[in-house]
Amino acid sequence: ETFKYTFDTPVFKGDVEVPLGLYIDGKFVDGSNGTYIDVINPTNGKTTTRISEGTPKDVDIAVKAAHQAFETKWGLNTTGVDRARLLNKLADLMEKEQDVLSALEALDNGKTFNWAKRGDVSHSITCIRYYAGWADKVLGQTIETSEAKLTYTRHEPIGVVGQIIPWNFPLQMMAWKIGPALATGCAIVLKPSEFTPLTALYMAKLIDQVGFPAGAFNLVNGYGSIVGQALAEHPDIEKIAFTGSTLVGRKIMEASAKSNLKKVTLELGGKSPTIVFDDADLDQAVKWAAFGIYYNHGQCCCAGSRIFVHANIYDEFLQRFTAHTQTLKVGDPFSPETFQGPQINQQQYDRIMGYIESGKAEGAKVHYGGHRVGDEGYYISPTIFTETKPNMKIVQEEIFGPVCVVIKFSDDDDIVKQANDSVYGLAAAVFSQNVTRALSTAHKLKAGTVWVNVANMLYPNVPFGGYKQSGIGRELGEYALANYTAVKAVQVNLLIKM
Ligand code: NAD
Repeated sequence: ETFKYTFDTPVFKGDVEVPLGLYIDGKFVDGSNGTYIDVINPTNGKTTTRISEGTPKDVDIAVKAAHQAFETKWGLNTTGVDRARLLNKLADLMEKEQDVLSALEALDNGKTFNWAKRGDVSHSITCIRYYAGWADKVLGQTIETSEAKLTYTRHEPIGVVGQIIPWNFPLQMMAWKIGPALATGCAIVLKPSEFTPLTALYMAKLIDQVGFPAGAFNLVNGYGSIVGQALAEHPDIEKIAFTGSTLVGRKIMEASAKSNLKKVTLELGGKSPTIVFDDADLDQAVKWAAFGIYYNHGQCCCAGSRIFVHANIYDEFLQRFTAHTQTLKVGDPFSPETFQGPQINQQQYDRIMGYIESGKAEGAKVHYGGHRVGDEGYYISPTIFTETKPNMKIVQEEIFGPVCVVIKFSDDDDIVKQANDSVYGLAAAVFSQNVTRALSTAHKLKAGTVWVNVANMLYPNVPFGGYKQSGIGRELGEYALANYTAVKAVQVNLLIKM
């Protein structure tokens, strides 16, 4: 079964065909229960199509196929040069089909076509190319012990890995996961989010065209509590990489602990601070701070949802930030003027509106927005809260929507304490023209990424991950290779006699 769709929009016109089955051992197949999951269009709540639902039995079949591939035609049976060539071919196909991938991402997730193309798709292509570059450069060490011995390490692919990804950056999260895994020769069973399966299915089609050995990459769609849980518990999966909520991250670790102690990396939530000092370039700080919270409709794990502004410039900042927020057009993802599309689904819409209500109930002031936009779909106005208190839910908890709090501060030491007053530590942004002030603050912030005079910018070669409850491990960059390799030390005796 395939999904055929004709896009006829101002930014993209064309016919697209997406396979709807599971992709196991190099073939698209139906789920073993013969059941389906509806894919909902977030602009109107209507059903776009339906995909095959995987089951724990399908996970089992996929893991077996992955093992078979790993032992016979993938992993140590390939060379880094071969894996690099395959990954580069995949990147070439993605580049050729970048408009199709962008359109599918916009249809499925509700992000705008233009941002999907400029952000998600282009970043994903670069990410795959970056890891293609690493495939033949994963090196061990030769370690000096004694002249009587030769000791060296090998960085071997860890084996079969499970990868579970969320709906906010469906393609990009897939690229971050499969890039380093395929570069190092691991065999994959991937589970996309049940809310946004279309680009991953399209990628399976491209992976199939490239000619990776059957079983090296497998895709099992399904619900988190069923298919995701089955991956996390599986005794023959060596490593699990998860991106999603902190709540589910705990379940992944627990399932690993209770099964085979598979290695775990977690990329979880955030409540990132943006700090604007009184010597910042105000115009730039306003624009980046807005991008920091509103990009991708606030559905970024690293969203700068707490904006701290120095008292000397607070009024001026708030006025300019509000004026800028007003210019951000909310609407159809396929209109070239749109900055912000709908939230992903009813559940997230309700959750965000619930936080807006809680902010009001706890006594914060809705300075701007706070309401739905239009009468269908899951559109929410960009929303600014002021007059908050540190213990309010909207200041402490991740909202995952276009909602920020703007808070006044006056003391440089105290602002670091306030910014670090969170269970999360994914990212932070600092705005100041004074290099000492900016960098000494950056060094004191407990966050995996600190942006100085910029926000929300990622590169495939720069590591990304969380302090505290924002996660375990780092993705991207050379660091990510360690997630997918096991280090073996080999000691060879040359001269020592017993
Ligand atoms: P989620 O945790 O509900 O789901 C993420 C994935 O896990 C989905 O594929 C889902 O099906 C699966 N899942 C759900 N329950 C599971 C279970 N019991 N066992 C195994 N898998 C299960 O999160 P979401 O709603 O899809 O994404 C939003 C969250 O993800 C936010 O909290 C956000 O901060 C976080 N996130 C973090 C990063 C990062 O890099 N740190 C990136 C994107 C999103």
